[in-house]
Parts: sequence; C-alpha cells; structure tokens
Amino acid sequence: MKVNLVKTEAEIELIRQSSLLLGKTHAEVAKHIRPGVTTRQLDKIAEDFIRSHNALPSFKGYGGFPATLCTSVNEVVVHGFPNDIPLKEGDIVSIDCGVYMNGYHGDSAYTYPVGEISEDLMNLLKRTKQSLYFGIEKAVHGKRTGDIGHVVQSYSESFGYGVVRDLVGHGVGKNLHEKPDVPNYGRKGTGHKLESGMTIAIEPMITLGKRHIDIDNDGWTIRTIDGKAAAHYEHTVAIRKDKAEILTTFEFIEEELKKHGIVI
Ligand code: MG
Ligand code: MG
Repeated sequence: MKVNLVKTEAEIELIRQSSLLLGKTHAEVAKHIRPGVTTRQLDKIAEDFIRSHNALPSFKGYGGFPATLCTSVNEVVVHGFPNDIPLKEGDIVSIDCGVYMNGYHGDSAYTYPVGEISEDLMNLLKRTKQSLYFGIEKAVHGKRTGDIGHVVQSYSESFGYGVVRDLVGHGVGKNLHEKPDVPNYGRKGTGHKLESGMTIAIEPMITLGKRHIDIDNDGWTIRTIDGKAAAHYEHTVAIRKDKAEILTTFEFIEEELKKHGIVI
C-alpha cells in the first residue's frame, strides 16, 4: 500500500475519528480493571465495543497477533496476550489498543494500577506518562525524531529507569506501522525530520530496572530480563507548526480513574 508520511487534513480527520473511538474503548476497559478481572475479559469488552461502532480492532490478526488488546502485566513490557489469569492487587497492567475505521488507524496505550500499588510503581507510571508528554512537546514541524527520543530518554534516565530500545514509536495512517521510526532514545537534531501533517505514535516503554528485554517462545510477549516492572503510554499525534495535535485521548480513561481517586 502506498504510504504518504504527510497526511491531508481529510486523512487526519479520519485518524482523529478512529483515535476518538479508541479513547472511548480504553475507557470501557478502564472501568473494569480491578483485582480479579482477567485480561481475556478486558479483551472481549474492547473487541465488542469497537465492533459495535462499526470499526475493527487494528491488532487482531496483525502479523498473527491473536487479540484486540495487548495486555502486559508487571515485567511484561508490551505485546502480552490476554489470558485467564486474574489481575491481582498490586499489579500494573499496560493496555495497548488500535482502532481501524474508514481506512485509518489510531494507536494508543495506557498503564494502570490494579488496586493499591507500591509508591515505586506509581512513580514509574506517572513519570512514564510525563515522558510521553515531554516527547509530544518536541513533535513539531522542523524538529527531528531524535529530539523526541532525547527528551524521553534524558528525563526517564534521570530517575535511574531503563529506556527500552528494541521497540519504537512509528508513523500511523492507512497502516498501523509506517515510517518513520520514533525511538525513545537518541540525540537532539538527529533522525527523521518532522513535517506538519505527519501522524506518528509516540510510545515510551520505561523499566524500573535495566532496559534489556527478551521475547517469550510465543514470539510476541516482551518482558524485562531482570524481571522488574515496565510501563507504556502512547498517543497518536499530528505534527503541527508550533504544537502537536494529540489525536488519541486519555480524557475518558482519566474520568473513569478519577471516580476511584486515581490520578496518574
Ligand atoms: Mg500501541
Ligand atoms: Mg504503537
């Protein structure tokens, strides 16, 4: 499929619509995250919600991925399969999801506490989310992907965290993953030049311990080698002249979390 890295306003509108439905899908999942729920139950909630809005889950069948959600618990960084193991108090779970509608994708991820979590884990969540927003501040016309990576890396490493390098952000459009790569590490002024109208997913994956990861025998599940927890937040954004436009949204998720007194 031919890929234009710079999208028209009409294309951006379609990505915005997919991304809005995605934000609402995440909130449906967020409503149900608590000790005792299984990630397979969360996956069904997400799939049913997306299909009931005449859209498709981007991930299901992508390269053979078996589910609507990537559900990554504790030391699993990304690409975890939904399963029948109940979440338990003190866990964290990263939920990554994509929505495909009218020919365009949106892609977004959020890491949740399950019940009460340790202060170390809560800090990891807050700072990983903050690193995403620092990255988004650099996602403007004329900057480069390395400017995004640099700020995510320098902020995260200032806390002694690891920045996963093996997986990166990416362009989003007709395809779930397009050029350019958007690493979460790098040097200022290097990498692919950003232009107004490009749509990219920025997605820091940050670890409590070392950054090194391994892949399970299932060919998908990525976990930290040292067994320490990892967090993952992701927005799809449009590059603009002065300030990126965030196309996905955490607004609906955070309304749900607020009902339980949770602020990340
Ligand atoms: Mg994603
Ligand atoms: Mg992504």
